[in-house]
Amino acid sequence: MIEGSRGKKFEYLALKALESRIPSNHPVKEKVLKDFKIKHAEVKGENEVKYQLRFLDNKNFIVLYNLRLKDENGYFQMDFLVMTKSFILNVDSKNWQGTCIFGANGQVTRKLPDGSKKGILNPIDQVKMQVRRLRRWMNNHHFPDIPIKFLSVSSFPTNIIERETAQDHIPDEVIHSSDLIFRIDKLEQMYKKDILTEHQLQKLSYLLQKSHCPADQNLFEKYELSRKDILKGVFCPKCNALPMIRHQRKWYCKNCKHVSTDAHRLALNDYILLFGEWITNKQARDFLLISSAQVTKYMLGKECVSTVGSTKGKKYKLRLKL
Ligand SMILES: [Zn+2]
Repeated sequence: MIEGSRGKKFEYLALKALESRIPSNHPVKEKVLKDFKIKHAEVKGENEVKYQLRFLDNKNFIVLYNLRLKDENGYFQMDFLVMTKSFILNVDSKNWQGTCIFGANGQVTRKLPDGSKKGILNPIDQVKMQVRRLRRWMNNHHFPDIPIKFLSVSSFPTNIIERETAQDHIPDEVIHSSDLIFRIDKLEQMYKKDILTEHQLQKLSYLLQKSHCPADQNLFEKYELSRKDILKGVFCPKCNALPMIRHQRKWYCKNCKHVSTDAHRLALNDYILLFGEWITNKQARDFLLISSAQVTKYMLGKECVSTVGSTKGKKYKLRLKL
């Protein structure tokens, strides 16, 4: 299973880092926390689908997930693409909670656990449009016309899917995640003829990954934040107090007296998620609240994967630890 870079997991971690570093009395705190919870549910749903897809036979399938492609109408995103030589399956993961009701004329309503109702976009229309755009993308890249099927998968096991009246119907492509693998088995039975050669399938996978455009969402713009809104320092890994104090090669927590040798690693992870993977000595000192340039130099030297420049302008490239 191959993931397009900076997918949902990255967005989730970035929101988590942002939420933890906004003071509790800040006006956007609540909004960030709400968005973080939504993203958390999305990642949970995605993990559920991933878990089901692990039961596929590796030799026959290539699975790409979190793909975002560009076409003449902008960008389109696909949660999971299950690819074989004889068919492609686009799996759209849905984090519905409560009850999902299919009514007349494709109308879909969600009834939340608190009893409230709201109309939602028809999931089939959404996934059909993705398939249409993928087909055109593949035509533009001169791939043979292979069947592209789709499923809209409810990833929460407790979600109930029902019809509004006996005359309405639930689309056959709307399923629970526990049914996913059996649906793929059925598709394998239905589509036995190879349309793509092994080489074409590999080429398609490579091209899709190469064409992936990560969503470059700027959280600072989205929430109208500036750098000075962000809390600096190293969190205590034990009690979460901020900031720990650096003394004699160790981090000390004033709150719970915990001592750590590497608590700065989590703070540097937050730095990457919020500001990017390049950092200077001065930026690191400022963010980690360390006074010594020598100590920071030693620390960054151990954590970085590469550097550019020298002396004062030297930049260290950090790697995100997941
Ligand atoms: Zn502590």
